[in-house]
Amino acid sequence: MGRSSKDKRDIYYRLAKEEGWRARSAYKLLQLNDDFDLLSGVNRVVDLCAAPGSWSQVLSRKLINERPQADDEVKIVAVDLQSMAPLPGVVQIQGDITKISTAQEIISHFKGQAADLVICDGAPDVTGLHDIDEYIQGQLLLAALNITTHILKLGGNFVAKIFRGKDVDLLYCQLRIFFPTVTICKPRSSRNSSIESFVVCQHYSPPDGFSPTMLNPLLGDPSQLKSLEGVNRMIVPFMACGDLSAYDSDQTYQLNGTDQFCRSLPPTQEPINPPYKTACLLKKTSCLASDRNEDSSRMSSS
Ligand code: SAM
Repeated sequence: MGRSSKDKRDIYYRLAKEEGWRARSAYKLLQLNDDFDLLSGVNRVVDLCAAPGSWSQVLSRKLINERPQADDEVKIVAVDLQSMAPLPGVVQIQGDITKISTAQEIISHFKGQAADLVICDGAPDVTGLHDIDEYIQGQLLLAALNITTHILKLGGNFVAKIFRGKDVDLLYCQLRIFFPTVTICKPRSSRNSSIESFVVCQHYSPPDGFSPTMLNPLLGDPSQLKSLEGVNRMIVPFMACGDLSAYDSDQTYQLNGTDQFCRSLPPTQEPINPPYKTACLLKKTSCLASDRNEDSSRMSSS
């Protein structure tokens, strides 16, 4: 789609240019804020995966420009792998959100204080293979959650992009461990055709005894999990059902001549009206088109 045609077809793309936002995604944060009042009373915010910077622009306008007495308390820290053009009142860190050093650098900008709000619009480069894209997006969300546990104050809020794929329940459970209220939202500016949604996680309250760690067994070496104890080791309750001595559905079992497995058995119940029924009938009476063709080619060659 050319630029002028996109202007006509994508209203938010057009509006973003008219209103001076760097990307149409600005409207997603604005619409989330309309419903959840995320920015009121907030001074310290971290914008993870911020480039090209439209969410940081929203923060800068709302927390600095639109507050009559914006004080020095306001601090906005934007993090991305890529650099972005400067924005008034926004400190930029070029870094990876999966690294502890990035968490430490963020904290250093807040003079040891924790953030009131963490937002993350992070997305990997999509491959077009849905399963892989969903998996990588899930990993990025977990990385954002990990870093958030280092920098968010108790009672603070966390907002992040999520792909609502078939395994989204697992991520939802992980978020619920840290936030009593988790809502999945689809702003009007997010296209219906996109799998993208946003989780709004409110009132940060990690389990008693939880100590933040950047160890992520899904991202790194699974053996590291052993070094975690108690609630720190908790991911999501998982229950395997059935007798463990039963056959494993993923294994292949040895067949021997006399074994009962060697004999092929008829199905317990034959399909009563299978879609291939007519084809079987035609086959029996040699009326299939392929049978007729074979016959005629035999006759012409003889
Ligand atoms: N919210 C931004 C805005 O409004 O302009 C748009 C964010 S864009 C959809 C996704 C960003 O995630 C990209 O700029 C990408 O560099 C960043 N990203 C992906 N993985 C990252 C990581 N591990 N650490 C930091 N940034 C990452």
